[in-house]
Amino acid sequence: MSDVRNVIIIGSGPAGYTAALYTARASLKPLVFEGAVTAGGALMNTTEVENFPGFQEGIMGPELMDNMRAQAERFGAELVPDDVVAVDLTGEIKTVTDTAGTVHKAKAVIVTTGSQHRKLGLPNEDALSGRGVSWCATCDGFFFKDQDIAVIGGGDTAMEEATFLSRFAKSVTIVHRRDTLRASKAMQERAFADPKISFVWDSEIAEVQGDQKLSGLKLRNVKTGELSDLAATGLFIAIGHDPRTELFKGQLELDEEGYLKVDAPSTRTNITGVFGAGDVVDHTYRQAITAAGTGCAAALDAERYLAALS
Ligand code: FAD
Repeated sequence: MSDVRNVIIIGSGPAGYTAALYTARASLKPLVFEGAVTAGGALMNTTEVENFPGFQEGIMGPELMDNMRAQAERFGAELVPDDVVAVDLTGEIKTVTDTAGTVHKAKAVIVTTGSQHRKLGLPNEDALSGRGVSWCATCDGFFFKDQDIAVIGGGDTAMEEATFLSRFAKSVTIVHRRDTLRASKAMQERAFADPKISFVWDSEIAEVQGDQKLSGLKLRNVKTGELSDLAATGLFIAIGHDPRTELFKGQLELDEEGYLKVDAPSTRTNITGVFGAGDVVDHTYRQAITAAGTGCAAALDAERYLAALS
C-alpha cells in the first residue's frame, strides 16, 4: 500500500489550495492536480481583488493565487500542473488518472474543480474581462460607481446582479433575449420597481466595444435584426455557470444543475472518503473566500476520515 497516498486534491482555485494547505500542515502530503491550462483557478483571469480579507489595499488575482500556491507548497503539498482525465472513486482506494495515463491511488479525494461562467462567445469579451466586462457584481460592482451598466440575462442571477448594481450605478439596463423573464416573481418585481433599472427586450449583444476598456455595446434585436447602440462602461454577464463535474458523472451525486451534492454543513459526498468544496458545490455565494472556507472544511473532513481509518 506504499504507493497509496492519503489524499488527492483535484483542482487548484482558492478551494483546492486551501485544502492543500490544511492537509499539508496535517502531514498528509497531499497530491494536488492543478489543471493543465488554468492552474490557480478563476482568479487567474481577473485584475484587482478587493474583497479577500487580509489585503487592505486589494491584491491582483494572479498574485493572490501565487501566494496561496506557495503557502501550500511550503508545507509539503505536491503540486502537479496537469488535468485529471478519469477517476474511480467507488472503492476504499480511489484512483485518479492523469493525462499521461498514470494512475494515482489515494484513500481520500477532495474535489475542487470549480465552475465555468458561461460566456457570450463574442470577440473582445475575454480581452475586456476586468476592464469593464465582469461576471460577478459582488466582486466588481464597487468599481462601477456612477456608471452606466448593462446586465445580460433574464434569470434570478441577472435580477440579483442588477438590483445589487443599482446601488452604485447611474443606470442599469437589463438586456434579455426574450420578452419575458425566467426569474422568480419576487426578483422580477424588485427589478421592475427599481427606478434605476430599465429593460431592453428581445435583444442580444452583437458587439462588445472598446480597446483597453469597455466603451459601449452594440445590441441586436433578435426578432427584427435591427442594430442599436447602448452606452455602457460596465457589462455584467449573468447567463449561468457550468460546474466542472463531467468527470464524476455516474459516481458522485449531482443536483439538477450538475453541481456536486454534499451532506452540508459537511463536505462529504455520497461516496465515503470523497469530499467536495468551492464553486463546484456552491451555486449561491461563488466567492474566493467562501471557496477557501469550504476548502478548509473539506481538508478537516478528510483528515478526520483518515484518522478514523487508522
Ligand atoms: P476555481 O477557482 O474555478 O478553480 C478550479 C480549478 O480546478 C481550476 O484551476 C481548474 O483548472 C481546476 N480543474 C478543473 N477540472 C480539473 C481537472 N479535471 N483536473 C485538474 N484540475 C481541474 N471572487 C471574489 O471573492 N472576489 C473577486 O474579486 C472575484 N473576482 C472574480 C473575477 C472573475 C473574472 C471570475 C471569473 C471570478 C471572480 N470571483 C471573485 C469568483 C472566484 O474566482 C471564485 O468564486 C473562486 O475562484 C472559486 O474557487 P474554486 O477553488 O471553487 O474554483
